[in-house]
Amino acid sequence: MISQNLQNAINGQIAAEMWSANLYLSMSYYFEAKGYTGFASWMKVQASEENEHADMLAQYVMKRGGKASVSAIEAVPQEWSSPLEVFEHVYKHECHVSELIDKLVDVASTDKDKASQDFLWSFVREQVEEEATAQGIVDKIKLGGEAALYHLDQKLGERK
Ligand code: MG
Repeated sequence: MISQNLQNAINGQIAAEMWSANLYLSMSYYFEAKGYTGFASWMKVQASEENEHADMLAQYVMKRGGKASVSAIEAVPQEWSSPLEVFEHVYKHECHVSELIDKLVDVASTDKDKASQDFLWSFVREQVEEEATAQGIVDKIKLGGEAALYHLDQKLGERK
């Protein structure tokens, strides 16, 4: 059975994942309004993945005999100055999420809860990919500048 402490910490992460989903949905709408339909589509996929993360955490809490909960989700930003600023925000945000996940592993370690550590390590590994993907897009925008945005928009729009 999962400890009350870890259950509460994971429930906090469920809210954080939902906040991330809303952030990416907000970014999707920002891009849609600017005509970047590929970036908008990429952000929608990103948003749905974050909602999946939230549900995976909830399912895990319940499987371990705990109670999963959905709490109030705070408002997300709605305006950015450029695609570069948006993707820099994504990178910064994913680094922040990585720190949150690391702290969850620490809670599971304090509990000596091996199953939860094992479960949470998959989220730690996922964050390595999340950070690298965002950093890669930031690098490409910086390399190509404005002229590369059209092509990159098309390319990111291929994400399923
Ligand atoms: Mg996530």
